[in-house]
Amino acid sequence: MEFTYYMPVRVIFGKGVVTKSAAEFKRLGSRALVVTGRNSADVNGSMADTAKALEECGISYKRYGEIKPNPDVENVRDAAARARSIGADFIIGIGGGSPLDAAKAVAILAANDIDDETLFSGTYTSRPLPVAAIPTTAGTGSEVTPYSILTRRSIRNKKSIGSPLIFPVMALIDPAYTYTLGINSTINTAIDALSHAVESCLSVRSTPAIKPAAYESMRLIAGTFNTLRRHELPSSSERESLMYASMLAGTCIAQAGTTVVHAIGYPLTYYRNVDHGRANGLVMHGFLKFLERRSTGVQELLEIMGMGSTDEFGTAMNDLLGARETLSEDEIKLFTDTVLTSKNVANTLPQPSRQDIEEIIRFSFPG
Ligand code: NAP
Ligand code: ZN
Repeated sequence: MEFTYYMPVRVIFGKGVVTKSAAEFKRLGSRALVVTGRNSADVNGSMADTAKALEECGISYKRYGEIKPNPDVENVRDAAARARSIGADFIIGIGGGSPLDAAKAVAILAANDIDDETLFSGTYTSRPLPVAAIPTTAGTGSEVTPYSILTRRSIRNKKSIGSPLIFPVMALIDPAYTYTLGINSTINTAIDALSHAVESCLSVRSTPAIKPAAYESMRLIAGTFNTLRRHELPSSSERESLMYASMLAGTCIAQAGTTVVHAIGYPLTYYRNVDHGRANGLVMHGFLKFLERRSTGVQELLEIMGMGSTDEFGTAMNDLLGARETLSEDEIKLFTDTVLTSKNVANTLPQPSRQDIEEIIRFSFPG
């Protein structure tokens, strides 16, 4: 056995952890920029809890509350200008994956005056500012990953920054913040976390050390499917399971990365505005069928999820996601071309050819 495992994030999990973490924030400096989306952090209580903790330990802070879903480079540059103008020592990201990913890019840009090429390179002259991550969705696991995924208009796609320098230094995870998520966001984010757990096992970089977390994550998420397939909101204990499972799956992609599923999802989001988790869910059945034909251990993963076959998995996705989007012939060609430029394709085991990718897309979006 031979592997590397690196997970430097201090994870503090449980109800009320943010208000109890004043001393943790204090270790990061005396001036913070809090990066959030436009609205949800005020509704789910995460912003108020953070403000209380910061005030309690005398940290001065400003808020940048303009992060859009699937943030673009311009959005994070604007936030980084705010971080510089207040002389922030550290960044706090609160929200779904979008504000958390934005916080990491802001941390890079606040410390480095660099062009876009260098931003995406993962190598920086000055160390990015420390980031504290407070997730309010149970999906991306961004609170424990070294990735920041941004919309990059110059290449008409989403692109990932990957660098161990942008692991958050701490993740404060309170499942209660997800209580305000509606059913569609709950389903989409749960499927995103499931795709992370599944893809991390089917990646070139997968290692034995991530499997226990990936399997537990799959088991917990599939355990909420009876509720979610009825389109009922999860109970508080199911919310807790989903938040925990999402964090576990995040630790898995932190090691192994994602695969062609995410690579196909990015143009769906860029061109058709399909939600990130939904996009993965639409593609996963076709991906598992592609792997099944090459007998790559899919059966074991299905069993963990309590499913007998890839088609049973597909039925579950259909129940969760409802009617599928349709794609034109031009879109199928454009998306296939775009997917081939993504590094997640080479991370897939076995690596799909152009024809395989087109087949997965056609299977996922039957005319
Ligand atoms: P999101 O884009 O962060 O948020 C989607 C919507 O949900 C926003 O309108 C947001 O509102 C709202 N929202 C967030 N928390 C809420 C809550 N507790 N209650 C009610 N509404 C809430 O969604 P996401 O799926 O979590 O993140 C997707 C992004 O993460 C994508 O850009 C994806 O590429 C990225 N991602 C990153 C990683 C990684 O490792 N870094 C992994 C997977 C995905 P506000 O805008 O008002 O906050
Ligand atoms: Zn994802």
